[in-house]
Amino acid sequence: MENQVPFTHFRTIVSTYEIDTDGIAQRATLPRLCNHCENPPCVQVCPTQATYQRPDGIVVVDNTVCVGCGYCIQACPYDARFINPQTRTADKCNFCIQRVDAGLLTACVETCVGGARIFGDLNDSDSDISRLLREYPTQVLKPAMGTNPRVFYIGLEAWLQAKVVGEQAPWSREKLLADVKNADANL
Ligand code: SF4
Ligand code: SF4
Repeated sequence: MENQVPFTHFRTIVSTYEIDTDGIAQRATLPRLCNHCENPPCVQVCPTQATYQRPDGIVVVDNTVCVGCGYCIQACPYDARFINPQTRTADKCNFCIQRVDAGLLTACVETCVGGARIFGDLNDSDSDISRLLREYPTQVLKPAMGTNPRVFYIGLEAWLQAKVVGEQAPWSREKLLADVKNADANL
């Protein structure tokens, strides 16, 4: 809503997984978004510098410069990007820079009913995020990629650390239609 992302496209998504644990059904959830990597491969491959890292570390796309080549989408190990069908340029979470620059929290943090998302300044040792990083063991997604994600998880199970393949939300009309077509084709 905040960023007027087109229907069936998402800047952040909470993937859900059904798990069979010794015959007992369990559900795991994995909130995903751009990790605003310290070492972002998407920036390195962009031929027009449309994707760049701000001095504060936030990775953004200037869609007045983006030519929609999609190199960054291929380069991102986290499936965090997509081509916006309205602008025909790369799109992804930008930590709501329009809000952050105005001194507000990101929209997802502001609206998270569980208070599960925390946003803040890693350079400020008194910030909530710095305190949490000191107090809790944290994990990042795909640590072996060397991207140094700046999105941290508390209590992320090891098997989910590499489970970042894109998945549409369960209420996606496209996915439901595709499921129906696949079912028809299998009849
Ligand atoms: S998560 Fe993907 S899009 Fe975001 S900074 Fe890292 S490589 Fe770039
Ligand atoms: S799609 Fe846009 S942001 Fe991505 S690499 Fe191409 S020009 Fe850069």
